[in-house]
Amino acid sequence: MINLKKIPPIDEILRQEEIQQLISRYKRDFVVETTRTIVMETREELRLVTEEIDKNNIFTTIVDKIKLKTEKANAGTLQRVINGTGVVLHTNLGRAPLAERAIKYMQEIGGSYNNLEMDLDQGERGSRYYHVEDLLKRLTGAEAALVVNNNAAAVMLGLTTLAAGKEVIVSRGQLVEIGGAFRIPEVMKLSGARLMEVGTTNKTYVSDYAQAISEETALLFSAHTSNYQIIGFTAEVSMKELVSLGKENGLPVFMDLGSGILTSLDDSGLKGEPTVQECVQAGADIITFSGDKMLGGPQAGIIVGKKEYIEIMKKKQLLRALRVDKLILSALEGTLLEYLSGDPREKIPIIQMLTRSQEQMEEKAENLLLLLKARLKDNKALSSIKLILLEDMVGGGAYPNHKMPGAGVEIEFNNLSLEKAAGELRLKNPALVTRRQDNKMLISVRTLLPGDEEEIVEMVARLVEDRE
Ligand SMILES: *Cc1c(COP(=O)(O)O)cnc(C)c1O
Repeated sequence: MINLKKIPPIDEILRQEEIQQLISRYKRDFVVETTRTIVMETREELRLVTEEIDKNNIFTTIVDKIKLKTEKANAGTLQRVINGTGVVLHTNLGRAPLAERAIKYMQEIGGSYNNLEMDLDQGERGSRYYHVEDLLKRLTGAEAALVVNNNAAAVMLGLTTLAAGKEVIVSRGQLVEIGGAFRIPEVMKLSGARLMEVGTTNKTYVSDYAQAISEETALLFSAHTSNYQIIGFTAEVSMKELVSLGKENGLPVFMDLGSGILTSLDDSGLKGEPTVQECVQAGADIITFSGDKMLGGPQAGIIVGKKEYIEIMKKKQLLRALRVDKLILSALEGTLLEYLSGDPREKIPIIQMLTRSQEQMEEKAENLLLLLKARLKDNKALSSIKLILLEDMVGGGAYPNHKMPGAGVEIEFNNLSLEKAAGELRLKNPALVTRRQDNKMLISVRTLLPGDEEEIVEMVARLVEDRE
């Protein structure tokens, strides 16, 4: 309690030159409010301190905190994060970082007027959905394509269009919840379709679907189980079987693929997921997938399939509420162009990350280790720092059980808890998000983008130098 009376009065703090500058730049009320909060917090903190603290120290700490809080609050909250987790499609970290081509194109289109809805040949009004359709048709082999806000929206639009007021047959093994509260039964309800569950959690046969078909049936639905797998005693109906059942009964087949893969990654060990092309070939009538999962593009919901169904979706009033803007369309076109005529394994960041070999990972980790060692030398706050082999994950609900052999750097601190170290690195800008294992910090190199290494070295250096 000894320090409490050293806290300066609010008026005195507000008269301080630096605070006056804040007031002139930001709103006075806001700065006053922030000052009150910081003073209150300081009071709480000092209540617990028994040794005496210098009055000037208290004053400058308060002023610094007000500055930091005010500036942070006026800087926007989105910021860059360095992903040291080794989870390539991290939904909390914005999923896929975009390809350079996508970014350039987005910048060009976003920063200028453009032909979003103008047919320049005719000088007439055009459709925004025209832009990516041709590319998607060529890439997937589908008859038609449509892009909406995200895959959840794509599923919603598809179900409403094809099955509102009618029944949709789904296997009990596929009634899944995907991260961020996308639940098949709930999306179904929202769309106005009635869910007709068939089979059991672990086994569903094509005969289960067949028996459930009635006058009320509008659609056979299949959802990719993305983020989990049923293993052991299981049976699933293949897309081919479902398609032939649909044909026999004149019912369309809807496939919610989740993470659309446009280029097979079998040779990199990423096996067992069908590509979009394979689903089209198998005869699925409607296929939906995300733009920012395995495709490596912006958030979007991509619908490909039979023209007769997609044409109806294009006329739905709901589409207006799900429509994508010029930024998404340009980023998506830029990404798709890389698949069509470029080099996705080199130019699409997530595809590059997913197809790097363990040797390449080790080399990258070795490089980071050398940089860290050179900068930190014999820093006493570091107990050990070494190269480590680890396993990375695809993330984003793709290949849930697949572990990619990777590499990284393991850091052990002296007199600094892992929580504290990781917490401080997270609070920097850019932030660094790391992994932990046995009370050691791990930084996987798979998910690092060019230039991240140098920044990591500086961040870790500042962290430990403050404590030496
Ligand atoms: C990820 C996923 C979704 C949701 O896609 P968003 O683009 O995040 O809306 C829906 N269905 C499946 C099977 C998924 O994997």
